[in-house]
Amino acid sequence: MSDLHSIKSLFSIKDENIKITEIREAVYKNRKVTLAESTLTRVFRRCPCCKATADQLVKNGKKVSMILLNRSGNKRAYLRLKKQRYHCRACGKYFTARTAMVNPSCFISKQVHYQILEELSERQAMTTIAKHCDVSSTTIQRTLRALSAAARPRLDHLPTCLLFDEFRSLSTWHGSFSFSCMDGETGRLFDILPSRKKQDLVAYFMRFDLKARQKVRFIVTDMNAPYFSLVKECFPNAEVIVDRFHIVQHVNKFFDAVRKRVHEALRSKRSN
Ligand SMILES: [Zn+2]
Repeated sequence: MSDLHSIKSLFSIKDENIKITEIREAVYKNRKVTLAESTLTRVFRRCPCCKATADQLVKNGKKVSMILLNRSGNKRAYLRLKKQRYHCRACGKYFTARTAMVNPSCFISKQVHYQILEELSERQAMTTIAKHCDVSSTTIQRTLRALSAAARPRLDHLPTCLLFDEFRSLSTWHGSFSFSCMDGETGRLFDILPSRKKQDLVAYFMRFDLKARQKVRFIVTDMNAPYFSLVKECFPNAEVIVDRFHIVQHVNKFFDAVRKRVHEALRSKRSN
């Protein structure tokens, strides 16, 4: 593996159309940085605008972008990318080669965004993350907003059959139990909420469209009384089914209580 190719792996640059030509130290925005000089060219079979064949495309200069990479040692690292521009003689349009390592019109590489996400999973201030990743706090907020948009559930759909349960989790201000909700037909987890309190669950489910809530036909749950009134409020067409596991669990619990009572009664009779 050549040195320049190893540098590509070091910076996690996977795009085969990018070629590193030189690594050097430079001053950028009044800082000493590591600069990876590189080129991006692509072979087009057709014009992306009018679909004319490749013989209509001619190279037309280069456009330079400075893309922020993850740190190298104790210095900021940038990819100085010379992107090939093309001109289509058939439709007269101009376009530039693109790479998947950075979003269009963004100068922060995706690997930096991944690092931001990793840092966001730790409990620390946004300004600290911004400092670690060499970006502004606004970039951190934008990355977080993009992530929460991707993680946001669709509010126009709910499974026909929902399974409710709770489990002991970390103690937070919500309490020490969390709530889990599964799709009864596919057996897939639908969501996990930090609280099992009725008002929190009502607030969560009422965010879904009425049409989606009306489509829920069955709620399978344990004998937790607040769930019964929750179902009435949120799912007008749903029936509550207490699952067999919880019924058997309750029966066992009461049998056990009776067994202990009888045992105690017999023991005290014998000692008398
Ligand atoms: Zn064209």
